Amino acid sequence: MTDPQFPKPFWQTKPLADMSADEWESLCDGCGKCCLIRLEDEETGEVHNTDAHCKLFDSGSCECKDYVNRKAVVSDCVILKPANIKALKWMPRSCAYRLLSEGAELPEWHHLRTGSRDSIHEAGMSVRNATVTEEGLSEAALLSRITLWPGEPGWED
Ligand code: SF4
Ligand code: SF4
Repeated sequence: MTDPQFPKPFWQTKPLADMSADEWESLCDGCGKCCLIRLEDEETGEVHNTDAHCKLFDSGSCECKDYVNRKAVVSDCVILKPANIKALKWMPRSCAYRLLSEGAELPEWHHLRTGSRDSIHEAGMSVRNATVTEEGLSEAALLSRITLWPGEPGWED
């Protein structure tokens, strides 16, 4: 039974579709993995992450440099919504939106659990300071930059 003095947090009680805009935005852990360039194997359909990032991504802050206008600047940037998160199979396994849409709990390093936006970086679960810009990279160069990231398929501790 839940102690009324310590009610459950919103992400444990509200479906994604019922969250306020602020609650929804607060879920993003700032991992930066969804801003990586991904390559799809045409034969298998398998999606591979690289260590190259979207031109609008800031590696040092691990954030989009123009979040409000991101879709206007990068037309193929995907705006996450409760209605599309389940269909986006390439979203990182550690992504808070993906986890909640699958009925899982937020990881122990998530800032809503720790109270610190730094905890994801300290846990090694973000791509901060570990990527290069996509700009100027050929397809062949991108192929050579396929990278396994912590928490994602193929990664082993
Ligand atoms: S993968 Fe999910 S949690 Fe990580 S930055 Fe993208 S939207 Fe935020
Ligand atoms: S436009 Fe911004 S949010 Fe979209 S992929 Fe690029 S860096 Fe990420």
